[in-house]
Amino acid sequence: IHDDEDIQKEDNIRCLTTRGHFGFECLPCQLVNRSIQQGFTFNILCVGETGIGKSTLIDTLFNTNLKDKKSSHFYSNVGLKIQTYELQESNIQLKLTVVKTVGYGDQINKEASYQPIVDYVDAQFEAYLQEELKIKRSFFEYHDSRIHVCLYFISPTGHSLKSLDLVTMKNIDSKVNIIPLIAKADTISKNDLQKFKSKIMNELISNGVQIYQFPTDDGTTAQVNSSINELLPFAVVGSMEEVKVGKRIVRGRHYPWGVLQVENENHCDFVKLRDMLLCTNMENLKEQTHIQHYECYRRSKLQKMGFTDVGPDNHPVSFQEIYETKRQEFYDQCQKEEEELKWRFMQRVKEKEITFKEAEKELQDKFEQLKMAQQEEIMKLEEERRQLEEEIRDFYKMKATSETLRAQLCTNIKKD
Ligand code: GDP
Repeated sequence: IHDDEDIQKEDNIRCLTTRGHFGFECLPCQLVNRSIQQGFTFNILCVGETGIGKSTLIDTLFNTNLKDKKSSHFYSNVGLKIQTYELQESNIQLKLTVVKTVGYGDQINKEASYQPIVDYVDAQFEAYLQEELKIKRSFFEYHDSRIHVCLYFISPTGHSLKSLDLVTMKNIDSKVNIIPLIAKADTISKNDLQKFKSKIMNELISNGVQIYQFPTDDGTTAQVNSSINELLPFAVVGSMEEVKVGKRIVRGRHYPWGVLQVENENHCDFVKLRDMLLCTNMENLKEQTHIQHYECYRRSKLQKMGFTDVGPDNHPVSFQEIYETKRQEFYDQCQKEEEELKWRFMQRVKEKEITFKEAEKELQDKFEQLKMAQQEEIMKLEEERRQLEEEIRDFYKMKATSETLRAQLCTNIKKD
């Protein structure tokens, strides 16, 4: 309630406008400042045949020469090349990891070409899960290497997807956000491109391949994103070549019949891809990776380990309860195995004892036999010796007799 004097005073009050934000209005600024200080990470997986333009497109996207060697077509298996770069644009630091397939599509048997990709994506989820399960976690310094987006490079055949494309995409679509790209789109005519795009989308739908949908639930980006969803797959052209068009220098590809400008939206979808990927939806891609794909991996991993949120009678079970049950189960199992081991050991000891005893008896018998044979031999020898000694004695007797006779004979002869 104001009296007249108060109202008069109010009329004379100077109105000041605030210069900056104050109160909890400043919360977004705090977040922005902290994020700028921390820097950002973004991990891209590029899947596509050798020479399809993966390295060139990444260079074009980040306007930098990431100095990558040309890869060979003669690898016996599909591999992955992982490179991390520290990039800076004004005061924003970006730790960019680019994972590229090597030798993809170069083998005669392409059956398991997707396996190294699946293994890599899972290994990054596993590393994150292990960090999450640690008692002493250090997410502040932890380099989150989970793949935020997979750029899938489709050959510009103008025809249809290859079975390798479908098999690979089908195997990774629940693990990463796939954005399909028609590579080297400058090699395909405008009419063919439209038909090719709708053919690809039909094939993806009929084969149940889930690709990343740009979110349409955010008022600020909904309209742009829904029109972009209609435009998929992006037809892209990459080039770091600078070409003169009129008075301007642009990035493009120079052909005998003209210049394709990479950043001209009438020529290709490169700008749309760059905007969607880097300006509008990078955060959403990271969020989807965490809340959808990583969550799925984490759930199935913990379920495989025997953890669950509800018991058999549908009552909620706590992590601790399951841990205790598992520990008891493990303890019982260990005891059972120990008992079994002991029993098996005793059996073996008994068996060995019997074998040893049998062997000992056999040896004893052999020894006895040998001893008897030896005694018989000794007795035989003794007998022989006795006979020999008798013969010697007889011989000496005979010798003595003959010597006596010879002496007598000599004496008789001398007398005569
Ligand atoms: P990667 O093996 O998939 O990394 O392929 P590269 O990026 O090394 O490209 C292989 C070759 O294709 C190079 O000679 C590039 O100049 C060329 N190239 C890259 N992008 C395009 C493109 O959009 N259109 C055309 N016509 N050629 C391209």
